[in-house]
Amino acid sequence: MRILLPVFLSLLFISANAQLLIRNVSIVDVENKKLQASQDVLVSDGIITAVGKNLKTKEGVQIIDGTGKWLMPGLVDAHVHFFQSGGLYTRPDAIDLRKEKPQEKEIAWVHQNMESFLRRYTMAGITSVIDVGSTENFLRQRDSFRTKQYAPAVYMTGPLLTTYEPPIFENLGEDKPFYLMKTREEGSAYVQKQLPLKPDFIKIWYILLGANKDSAARASLQMVQAVIDEAHKNNLRVAVHATERITAMLSVQAGADYLVHDVEDEPVDNSFIQLLKSKGTVLCPTLVVAGNYMRALGGGYKPTAEDYHYAHPTPLNSMFDMNFLKDSLLVKEYKTMISNNVAAFKKEDSIRYSNLKKMADAGVVIATGTDAGNIGTQHVSSYFDELRAMQDAGMNTWSLLQASTINGAKAIGRQNEFGAIKKGLRADMILLSKNPVDGIDNWKTVEWVINKGVVLKPGSILKNNAVELADQQLAAYNAHNLEAFVAPYSEDVEIFDLSTNKLQVKGKDAMRKHYAFLNEVEILHCNLVNRIVEGNFVIDHEEIITKNGKFYGVAIYEVKDGKIIRVWFP
Ligand SMILES: [Zn+2]
Repeated sequence: MRILLPVFLSLLFISANAQLLIRNVSIVDVENKKLQASQDVLVSDGIITAVGKNLKTKEGVQIIDGTGKWLMPGLVDAHVHFFQSGGLYTRPDAIDLRKEKPQEKEIAWVHQNMESFLRRYTMAGITSVIDVGSTENFLRQRDSFRTKQYAPAVYMTGPLLTTYEPPIFENLGEDKPFYLMKTREEGSAYVQKQLPLKPDFIKIWYILLGANKDSAARASLQMVQAVIDEAHKNNLRVAVHATERITAMLSVQAGADYLVHDVEDEPVDNSFIQLLKSKGTVLCPTLVVAGNYMRALGGGYKPTAEDYHYAHPTPLNSMFDMNFLKDSLLVKEYKTMISNNVAAFKKEDSIRYSNLKKMADAGVVIATGTDAGNIGTQHVSSYFDELRAMQDAGMNTWSLLQASTINGAKAIGRQNEFGAIKKGLRADMILLSKNPVDGIDNWKTVEWVINKGVVLKPGSILKNNAVELADQQLAAYNAHNLEAFVAPYSEDVEIFDLSTNKLQVKGKDAMRKHYAFLNEVEILHCNLVNRIVEGNFVIDHEEIITKNGKFYGVAIYEVKDGKIIRVWFP
């Protein structure tokens, strides 16, 4: 039943594009690591029904000419968290800013914006995401996106079954991301508790407390074992957070199917590698998330080009609050803590990188995943950082292609449903104008996203709403990036002086000149004091911090067709 489900669902919602033929395209065969030239791919009702040369079809089939183009499986992010926004206020156990933004508000915000996040994933060609730690409410919300053409396939576990619970998360009801287990019986009971919500797999947070890792790991092992046994009894795979060699080893011996992080405390040896290979365990290295915490909390966050393009602008903009928090002592405390730990962080990073290289070379199944949602690791855009990091660790492009497609499916045991371009799999594919085998930058040359068999233009998947546009330019303003700042404005934008209502600047080129100082300025930050949203208008009460002091004013943005067309600045 589990395997038939996607086929059945796709029949319900893809009638307009019942049949699709992609003609004469180079297929990226990720399983055999080779390109197959001049192929046709036939899709019926969301499923790939034939792959081969010069396929014959009936009339009325939608045809895409793939001549001179490349078709690869849709990308998979094998490690995300939808209960986290990627912004500064999303993990109060890492930095407690609940006075600035209550936790309930942050969680409500991610629920409201889940559609926007999902559209962004699809837009980037990421057609499957695996949420390895969510909440009961997010499991329910997952179901509402199953038949949406714009949404990637979302595979999700419920709350993390944990050996330690940060107290800050205790009272969140059905948005609680943790179930703390103290006994074996509680471990299996928590698996049972999730079953009615139909999790796609079970996740364990195997956290060590105390200096003696070995005895701490063995003390919790019985609970880990109980969860794995109960999950397997119910045909659910088990993903484990185990960042130490000892917890990773014990989890795999106990039957864990998927390690969601690399080992970061010790170099892995040959026996560990052979253990993973013999069990077919998949490992997701998540190389960038730790460094992102450091940069974010140390006040040194810098967005990438992909952040401006794909990330949700609201959490992105929140990253710049760090240096300007009201609690300046807290800011100082974090900066000191980060700078005191640079050497330790670097050491962990280098262990992660060299372990990944060793395991990838030895043939361990590696899946690309970001841990997106954590502070500073933006949904969607961090995928490209992660790929660059995996490449820096020594993985070649073919290994990255495998890790980012079929291996993500393997992580949750769904390689017979998606992850490659072959008969019988879900039609999740991206058509590229440049050869993806020539390098990961080419993976961004997406002309069409074929999502669940539906053909989508990346640019039409998401239209930023008024708030997203206002925050997009705000994030760029706070990052002092002129080009990103003008990006959400229309070509013939009009900028008025709010007090006189006089037109000050007209057109994007004039705007670039007017704001040319942005790229050079040292201290300039805009804090939102208050915001009113009324249809196409966003009215912001802003606090502007400069080297000459603080100023207050009101800015009004008017939005049309996904661009800011008029703005009144103080
Ligand atoms: Zn995670």
